[in-house]
Amino acid sequence: MIGLGNPMKLLLVVALLFILYKMFAGDKKHKQVKKEKEEENLAASGDMVKDPMCGAFVAKDGDIRVRQGDQVHCFCSYDCRDKYVKRLQSGQAPQAAQESEDTSS
Ligand SMILES: [Zn+2]
Repeated sequence: MIGLGNPMKLLLVVALLFILYKMFAGDKKHKQVKKEKEEENLAASGDMVKDPMCGAFVAKDGDIRVRQGDQVHCFCSYDCRDKYVKRLQSGQAPQAAQESEDTSS
C-alpha cells in the first residue's frame, strides 16, 4: 500500500506541472496578442507607420525613408526602400502617371 503512494504522488506532481505549463504557455500567447494590438494602436496614433513594401510596422521617425511629393514613406530596411524607389522610377507611381497625362493634353 505504501508502494502505491509514491507513483500516485508523482502523477499528481506531473499533472500540476502540466497545468502550470499550460498556464504559462497561455499567458505567453496572450502577451503576444497584446503586443500586436499595442503595435496597431501605435500605428493609429501616428507613432508608427506601415512599410508600404512588406507591411511591417516601423517608427515614423526611422532612418530609412523616401519622400514622394509631400508624403514620406518609412521602411523597415534599405532592401524595401530600394524596391520601392525602383517601383517609383519604373513609372508605377500613380502621382507621376497623372502628371504625364496633364502635360500631354
Ligand atoms: Zn519592409
